Amino acid sequence: MSLLEVNNLTKVFGGRGKPGVRAVDQVSLRIEEGSTFGLLGESGSGKSTLARLIPRLIEPTSGEIRFEGQALHTLREREMRAMRERIQIVFQNPFSSLNPRMTVRQLIGEPLLVFGRAKGSELDRRVLDMMQLVGLPAETINRYPHEFSGGQRQRIMIARALILHPKLLILDEPTSALDVSVQAQVLNLLIDLQQRLGLTYFLITHDMSVVRYMCDQAALMYLGKIVESGSVDQVFKTPAHPYTQSLLNDIPSTDPDQRMLEHVSLESDIFSVRWSGQGCRFSPRCPAAQVGACKTDDPALVSVRAGQVAACHLLR
Ligand code: SF4
Repeated sequence: MSLLEVNNLTKVFGGRGKPGVRAVDQVSLRIEEGSTFGLLGESGSGKSTLARLIPRLIEPTSGEIRFEGQALHTLREREMRAMRERIQIVFQNPFSSLNPRMTVRQLIGEPLLVFGRAKGSELDRRVLDMMQLVGLPAETINRYPHEFSGGQRQRIMIARALILHPKLLILDEPTSALDVSVQAQVLNLLIDLQQRLGLTYFLITHDMSVVRYMCDQAALMYLGKIVESGSVDQVFKTPAHPYTQSLLNDIPSTDPDQRMLEHVSLESDIFSVRWSGQGCRFSPRCPAAQVGACKTDDPALVSVRAGQVAACHLLR
């Protein structure tokens, strides 16, 4: 049984007489316990909306979310609140996500208070244990966020997410606000914590090299829909969708596997071309677009090889 199953999840914003924006469109995925699943996409692809739908920080329009086999989409708010102990999110910007008026003790210990899990000296002990685990010096427990570097602030965010012993950590661009040298330290910390604590990660990023470094499975999201998914090896070595090929083309790499790919290049971004809602959603940017089906039908995911699927008419 997968730890997390998402089936046909859809979120439509707006509406009320006008056609709404389908930020997440019929997304299905499975995440196995102890693994890391990477969701890739540009800004505006809907990936951060999906991250918030899973713990129901925003409500889906339709579809299913199952965690350890339990249907989250049917839980009442009180039951869902208890479930959020086991599903935590680390948001992308440690500069704006930490309350500047709270000390490290308060920031990391707050979830214990909110969920009634510890207080007083027991809370302090658990905060200090968690600080040690993420590599924060114990003597900084009474300091404020502005006294820390970007990497240390992200360690505070991770400690805060882990203090309730979750099973699933949703990492929304966990290193995109950090310097390159610090990014590797935070990624290595996450790998170490996963091994020690048996965590499962759902990693959301626009950075393909982060997925290649961290993940077991990868999916590409475009305008709310998953257009390709498979093992990291499949997606990076034998990408099937023109969008995946285009993104890989943007990675500066000396890896011969990547150099051998027949890349296509994107000359526009997701906001500069508009999809009419008809045909393949990638067709306005797709260098391989064909007249005919590309202009009339949005392709469904089809099997490329065992474990890999992609949504492109050229694969039929
Ligand atoms: Fe490109 Fe057509 Fe494939 Fe869409 S279906 S990705 S437009 S080739």
